[in-house]
Amino acid sequence: MMEVMSMAMLDAGSTQSTNNNKDKDNNLLLEVDRIRKWFRIKRSILEILQGRQEGIVKAVDGVSFSIKQGSTFVLAGESGSGKSTIARLILRAIEPDGGSIRFAGRDVLSLDKRGLMWFRRNAQMIHQDPYSSLNPRMRIISIVGEPLEVHGIKDRKERDEMVFKALQEVRLEPVEEIAYRYPHMLSGGQRQRVAIARALVLKPMLIVADEPVSMLDLSVRAEILELMQNLKVKHNITYMYITHDLSTARYFGDSIAILYKGRIVENGDIDDILNEPLHPYTQALIDAIPEPDPSSRLRDKVIRIRSSIDAYDEEKGCRFYARCPYAMDKCKDEPTMLEVKKGHHVSCFLYQK
Ligand code: SF4
Repeated sequence: MMEVMSMAMLDAGSTQSTNNNKDKDNNLLLEVDRIRKWFRIKRSILEILQGRQEGIVKAVDGVSFSIKQGSTFVLAGESGSGKSTIARLILRAIEPDGGSIRFAGRDVLSLDKRGLMWFRRNAQMIHQDPYSSLNPRMRIISIVGEPLEVHGIKDRKERDEMVFKALQEVRLEPVEEIAYRYPHMLSGGQRQRVAIARALVLKPMLIVADEPVSMLDLSVRAEILELMQNLKVKHNITYMYITHDLSTARYFGDSIAILYKGRIVENGDIDDILNEPLHPYTQALIDAIPEPDPSSRLRDKVIRIRSSIDAYDEEKGCRFYARCPYAMDKCKDEPTMLEVKKGHHVSCFLYQK
């Protein structure tokens, strides 16, 4: 049996900064600088007797990025790359082992109780699974009204009015009927609209959306993304959109960071990255986008990821080494993040002179 424990006391270890947030910009809503979260994997007595050592999982290992007010920042990578851990760190659902997080100019990690209430009111989350994220025993009016109550809006009439307005905003009609239903009486798309209404009702500055459409039917994904986009424009919402699916990222994002094994390997403007991906892992993610018409693929050449596991020290070298078709001897050292053109950064020896 494995027990996962926070490694708060571990040595700082290696960090990697994209340096994006060194250029101070007053328009930045969120500034994340070299955050780190390592987990210790504890072994059972049986595993210890079998000679298995305690291990460390560097779920997030020195990640830096910033998000401009009113923009959508996409954090993309495969399962296990650390995306959701970053979301939980930013929202202070878990504490980082290192690094800093600033929100609207305030240091999130040193907020007092009152400051934390302010932060939680202004930074909301939409979860991936609209089936498990809504309490099945509560009516929609109570689910959407709950954050209002937590944040001090005690008057029932005022609260209900705000809930009705939020349900209208997410186009759940007729509001008077939907409000008194239970989640099981709604479709997946309607439930995700409820989740958006719950995030929206406090009028937050930032919404962290963790794979918000990945569990929905293809037919409703575009509707939900379009709704989120419209709300962004209307309310000047800033999104952090977490996904493994670059086809939705392309529709929705302004800037993007590609995450691999707890580190950002490439970041920049979304059009730059999707039209001209540099890191072999980004290229592989783009090649994995299903395209019914091969002639409209984003890239002519399709990268073939290796499946061999060469002996090398992942801690010291490029984390993509074992899968990279271009791996060279020098990739057994760690590449640094380089700005290859304005705002476009990549961490790969192919671009280092
Ligand atoms: Fe591949 Fe080397 Fe670049 Fe890593 S540094 S992605 S192994 S070419």
